[in-house]
Amino acid sequence: MFKFTITKKSKKSRARLGLLKTSHGVIETPVMIPVATQASIKTLNSEQVKKTGSQLLICNTYHLRLRPGEKVIKSLGGLHQFMNWSKPLMTDSGGFQVFSLGFGRDFNVSKIIKGRVKSQIKAGQQPKLLKITKTGVWFRSHVDGRKIFLGPKESMEIQSALGADIIFAFDECPPPHANRAYVSDSVELTHKWAELCLKHHDKKQALYGIAQGGHFRDLRLKSARFIGSLPFDGFGIGGELGGSVLEMKKMLAWVTAELPEGKPRHMLGTGHPEDIPAIIASGCDTFDSIVPTHFGRHGTAFTSSGRLNLSNLIFLKDKKPLEPGCECEACTGYSRAYISHLFRSRELLGMQLLSIHNLTFFNRLVSDIRRKIEEGKF
Ligand SMILES: [Zn+2]
Repeated sequence: MFKFTITKKSKKSRARLGLLKTSHGVIETPVMIPVATQASIKTLNSEQVKKTGSQLLICNTYHLRLRPGEKVIKSLGGLHQFMNWSKPLMTDSGGFQVFSLGFGRDFNVSKIIKGRVKSQIKAGQQPKLLKITKTGVWFRSHVDGRKIFLGPKESMEIQSALGADIIFAFDECPPPHANRAYVSDSVELTHKWAELCLKHHDKKQALYGIAQGGHFRDLRLKSARFIGSLPFDGFGIGGELGGSVLEMKKMLAWVTAELPEGKPRHMLGTGHPEDIPAIIASGCDTFDSIVPTHFGRHGTAFTSSGRLNLSNLIFLKDKKPLEPGCECEACTGYSRAYISHLFRSRELLGMQLLSIHNLTFFNRLVSDIRRKIEEGKF
């Protein structure tokens, strides 16, 4: 089962409130989706994740394909049962790893480069460790070095075996510093793969197509129009979206204007607290972010008055909770001083407490925006 209903549209922005119905429950949108790369939110069990207010999680097809393998997960009852998560799940397609393990690794760059980007990658150029062909991508496993092939058909088969509620079409996520000709070719490839994904989709799961196009306006419009015209259940917005919140807003406006109004939109792989209002105001219904958990494991707490680096000595004398008034387990039971001590002593509990607080903080930030949309204030 999959149904998306828009319950309210903002008059102040393109934001909308909605309900995503799946066979594992109803999701209130807009919503932030924590990333459970290897079928786990690092350091937390599923009960702890639920208590942070998280409504659904996204897992990575590429990682689960390598370890333990989709057949193992299927034989153990599918991803929900395997990881003891009864709420909805998404899997990505492996397309992002074409970038992160390819040019992303070669040039040591992330999807988003702040400031001006110089084109360094030309049409036809190949990354060092993987080979992009017309039918799919050859990867060299980072686990044991074996070669694996992932194309539209393979991605659909793996995601079907994993059994998430929402899955994504296999795409090529172009690097942010690719030239126009490279991105143009890449968009064509993503479009061809999108059609093949629809052909190989077993229809038991909701399938989202992914619009690409880098920072080139015409390519973004072309991709959003083409992907938006295909019979997908929803749409992902992939690739880089500029080096600032302002640019992201401008580029999201190009794309969301071309996508069908009544279907859900997911922004792939972004979400610092300062980005979130812009993502939602641009009309995205869901977005996934590693920020709360990744930064949490590295000692950063997000609060309404900014970031705290808990490894800092000054917090060893601070009796306050991370965020006064926060009802998460970390804030109701532990002081900044104790959590600082945990990080300074490299105790795993520190990572766990900050992951709990940060997920709670992000989920609260988004639910506050949902309330504001409801009240006509956003
Ligand atoms: Zn808290």
